[in-house]
Amino acid sequence: MAKKLVLIVVDGMTPAAFERAVESGRAPALALLAGNGSYRRAMSVFPSLTPVCLSSIATGETPAGHQIPHLVWWHRDERRIVEYGSSFSALRAAGMAQSIADTIYNMNAEHLSRDASTVFETLEEAGLVTAAVNITCYRGHTKHLPTLPWVTKAAYGPKRFFYYSLFESDRTGAPLAVRNRAAGSIDVYAAAVGRWLITRDGFDMLAYYLSDFDYASHAHGPEGAEDVALERTDAAIQTLIDAAGGPDEFFERYAVLLLSDHGQTEVAQAAPLETPLAPYADSIVVAASNRAGQVYLLPDARVDAPTVARALDGAPSVEVTLWREGGDAVARREREELRFRPAADGWETSGDAAILDYPDALHRAWHALANPNAGEVLVSAAPGWEFVDIGGRHHAGGGSHGSLVEGDSIVPVVTVGIDAAPRRITDVTPALVAHATQTTLV
Ligand SMILES: [Zn+2]
Repeated sequence: MAKKLVLIVVDGMTPAAFERAVESGRAPALALLAGNGSYRRAMSVFPSLTPVCLSSIATGETPAGHQIPHLVWWHRDERRIVEYGSSFSALRAAGMAQSIADTIYNMNAEHLSRDASTVFETLEEAGLVTAAVNITCYRGHTKHLPTLPWVTKAAYGPKRFFYYSLFESDRTGAPLAVRNRAAGSIDVYAAAVGRWLITRDGFDMLAYYLSDFDYASHAHGPEGAEDVALERTDAAIQTLIDAAGGPDEFFERYAVLLLSDHGQTEVAQAAPLETPLAPYADSIVVAASNRAGQVYLLPDARVDAPTVARALDGAPSVEVTLWREGGDAVARREREELRFRPAADGWETSGDAAILDYPDALHRAWHALANPNAGEVLVSAAPGWEFVDIGGRHHAGGGSHGSLVEGDSIVPVVTVGIDAAPRRITDVTPALVAHATQTTLV
């Protein structure tokens, strides 16, 4: 009988932060996991932004497969902006009620491709019980009504479903999630629910998502986050171990896969991606935040993708632009171009290969462009730069992520008691399913 599974996702923790945490002794729970398992670095997706990454982790699909393109995107059929929470101001600018509905319900019920299966759907179809704490890609087969009496719309999640105090499949006595975000109340909520679930051994697979480290990293930078949030993140993991009765009991009962969804890099400057594109304002929609941008061509646009990309030449915030032309993808950087397409033995390329000198770049760029909800032109920000969101906000002076650069794109992965060596975050769900159903990976 396979051990039950605990998937832990620490949002925005870089491999360097993880390695320092383990070596410094400041994070005993992370060190315990690393000491009992194996550690490696793996690749995130592009754009390296949480809704895109968590959807890849929970479905095993690239953005082309799960179809979530960014934190903010243009819905072509509904002719409107979808905003999952670049900032509070961005939510307000996109329409608060619509944005809340998009984030809580529509991302899972409508935007996430029906052709993709979540780990919750797949394992419950195999007769197992899955649990989710706060993970934003949660789609499952069980109908859950919100805890607030004045909100009546149901969400479909795993059997045991806990989402920021708004959905709670069981009464756990956990404190309200949203009391004080900056003080870490969201991960305190997650830990209280996690303790309850482990104490009752109430699942075959638990997805345990901790978001406060990323929040601290945006505010204080990827290194400053360690002083603010590392101990809290670690304590939320220690809670699970303690709830099982200690490390021996915990590892006896559970296999663990811990990873981050993306990295973070320091940002010092921010610019609106709209400014250099102002001459085409009536033909395009710009959707940008953090360190990635998208440009959508309206149906009657009087520009094409290469023209938009050339208009971004010389913008200090822009490092690479990407678009599709015929069967090729094209990357442009400092007025040089690289064309590429998948081939039987890798990639067929022409042009300057150094243009996409980033980890796993051709694969990640190709699958970002192949997302039907993505813009016609994708933009990866230059190091140290961020794009201002539609609410006018940014994290300059702190940390951010989203681009192709290594610091945004590589994540730490620890596996304990599960025979898996994920190279990409899309390898996680196949590994969990193989372990839980005792099938072999091909
Ligand atoms: Zn973030």
